[in-house]
Amino acid sequence: MRFPEALLRRLAEVAVPVTEQGTVWISAKMPYDMFEDFQDRTRPAAARVFGGSVRAKYVSPSALGYELPTEGRPEIAFAGRSNVGKSTLLGTLLGDVQLCRRSKRPGCTTTINFFEPGGPAPSYLVDLPGFGFAERPDDQKENWSRAMFDYLAARDRSVLRHAVLLVDARRGLSANAKDLEALQGFSALKVSHHVVLTKTDLVRPPDLANALWDTFHHLAKFRKRSTCLPIVHLVSAKQGHGIQDLRDYIGSFIAEAADLRRKTRRRNNTMAL
Ligand code: GDP
Repeated sequence: MRFPEALLRRLAEVAVPVTEQGTVWISAKMPYDMFEDFQDRTRPAAARVFGGSVRAKYVSPSALGYELPTEGRPEIAFAGRSNVGKSTLLGTLLGDVQLCRRSKRPGCTTTINFFEPGGPAPSYLVDLPGFGFAERPDDQKENWSRAMFDYLAARDRSVLRHAVLLVDARRGLSANAKDLEALQGFSALKVSHHVVLTKTDLVRPPDLANALWDTFHHLAKFRKRSTCLPIVHLVSAKQGHGIQDLRDYIGSFIAEAADLRRKTRRRNNTMAL
């Protein structure tokens, strides 16, 4: 599998590879000059969010009484259209594919589901309701979007550290107005976010390169919004492609939250002296 030379040249106009697996890019970054006020976002070393001896756990919404967790653990939210592969990806990241499938039982599709990865750095992965399924009645679709935006608007940014927008690599970012609407929402609500292209195993490398090119072109429209990070991950939950890279990236936001909390505690202690 290899990106053809001509496409690589075209891609080089908008993106630089960050990590590669074999000869295929698994994450790419927009050149910094396209993001004028983009500060250096070198991520801190990733915290160990995943793995360890504790199994990942589903914190059911009913157990929470439909309240959101209040312990202040850092959260990473996952959004995307229904069928984009969100449950499968979350399950793969957590090391338990069935875990997220089980939480998708009827009646729970409009709820916000919290998963506790089993790693030593406490955090939550948040499964936001899938949006934009054509077969659902419009008012229900509306409710799903509202649940997502209510959560994004209400959640303290010291808790909600980052959101991931999943986009099917076969369609790309341009194909769906809902995806662009979600990006606009993240930017307007000042939620740090980035795009992940899913199911890359189903796409031929030239089409994948095109999807990436297209995605960066759309992201360029948000370049003045500093919460839109100019990086795209390419993953296949089926083949495990790009999964570790995404885990590390998520871990860097959790590490950043821990750093911030330490600094705040130190500042408060100094002020109390
Ligand atoms: P959700 O509605 O976004 O939670 O999507 P699901 O995780 O339920 O996935 C929808 C369909 O896509 C299922 O049939 C999955 O088996 C399939 N799927 C998910 N991820 C991948 C992937 O990486 N590669 C392939 N080929 N299929 C996938």
